[in-house]
Amino acid sequence: MITANAHIAAMAPYAMADISVPAGKRLISLAQNESALPPSPSAIAAGCEAFSGSQLYPDASWSELTAAIAEVHGLDADDILCAGGSMELIACLMQCYAGPGVEVLSTQFGYAFFRSASLAAGADYAAAPEQDFTVNIDAVLTAVTPATRIVCVANPGNPTGTRIARSELVRLRDGLDDDILLLIDEAYGEFPDVPGEHTFDLAARGNTVILRTFSKAYGLAGMRVGWGVFPPMIAAEMRKLLVANNVSVTSQAAAAAAIHDQSYMQMVCADTSERCDRFADDMRAIGLVVPQSHTNFALLRFADADAAADADRALRAEGIVLRGMAGYGLPDCLRATIGSEADMNEVTWHLTDWSRKETLTC
Ligand SMILES: *Cc1c(COP(=O)(O)O)cnc(C)c1O
Repeated sequence: MITANAHIAAMAPYAMADISVPAGKRLISLAQNESALPPSPSAIAAGCEAFSGSQLYPDASWSELTAAIAEVHGLDADDILCAGGSMELIACLMQCYAGPGVEVLSTQFGYAFFRSASLAAGADYAAAPEQDFTVNIDAVLTAVTPATRIVCVANPGNPTGTRIARSELVRLRDGLDDDILLLIDEAYGEFPDVPGEHTFDLAARGNTVILRTFSKAYGLAGMRVGWGVFPPMIAAEMRKLLVANNVSVTSQAAAAAAIHDQSYMQMVCADTSERCDRFADDMRAIGLVVPQSHTNFALLRFADADAAADADRALRAEGIVLRGMAGYGLPDCLRATIGSEADMNEVTWHLTDWSRKETLTC
């Protein structure tokens, strides 16, 4: 029999969204935090044009793309690494710095892939409690043990949508030993990108990595492009492990054009945030708890797990799929990606209808 390494055999598969709906229903998928809008027209044009040169391998050091990112964010292009989504960068970091006998520490509602990538590297995973769906820096610092090698936080958080102030992240970094790697995952950092709140400069400390992605604000989830700011020593180790030519010709060209079109991205974020706030208010009006979100999704907390499951069933019957949160220890919650205005109106309408029936049967 062919046997996998024990720590891999012991792992559960990474849970993807279940986006099945009744036959004949149009699927409205609000389960994967994809952008409601297509990529910038200039990104689409650049990707199409680059495709005709796809007989050649892509630029293995992503030169045009890192130059574009560096220009827009005021960074040094040499500090930037790119990959097939920021998930690849997370997995690679864990491979480099986590392993048997080492502990990776995140938070109670930390991004699920932190855990998967830690276990895949053979490391142990621990989570510090959050407070009101928000990362609590004191709790993280208290949870550090001698085995802790990496601390991961997503800012804003997924699935909570809440933010950690820059001052708090600096306090976290200052409170951690210098030989603990801090990973700050800013997959939703553009919603909105507050200048004074930037954390890219923390990479200069030599032990902190900041990740971003083109999958959310730039609407390029299907192109698979993530990037990050890495201290030089960490970047050197990562380059050994990242698969060569990991970002396709079309993806690099599309992403470079997308980041040059800041006004389109800012329009998408403003539009999405406005719809998110309105949707959150509508959901609070029917009695749900909704933490203030700084992302393209909202976390909906129902009265209990049965109510959440019942609402999920009612929506699925209409072809609308939100993301169940039992895997995060939140069986009473559903996470709703902010879709188009028409889609959100439909969700609001069906959930309002559901809540009336729910009240009648209580
Ligand atoms: C969506 C998401 C990612 C994954 O992004 P990709 O670049 O598509 O791999 C990473 N971190 C968080 C917190 C996310 O929500």
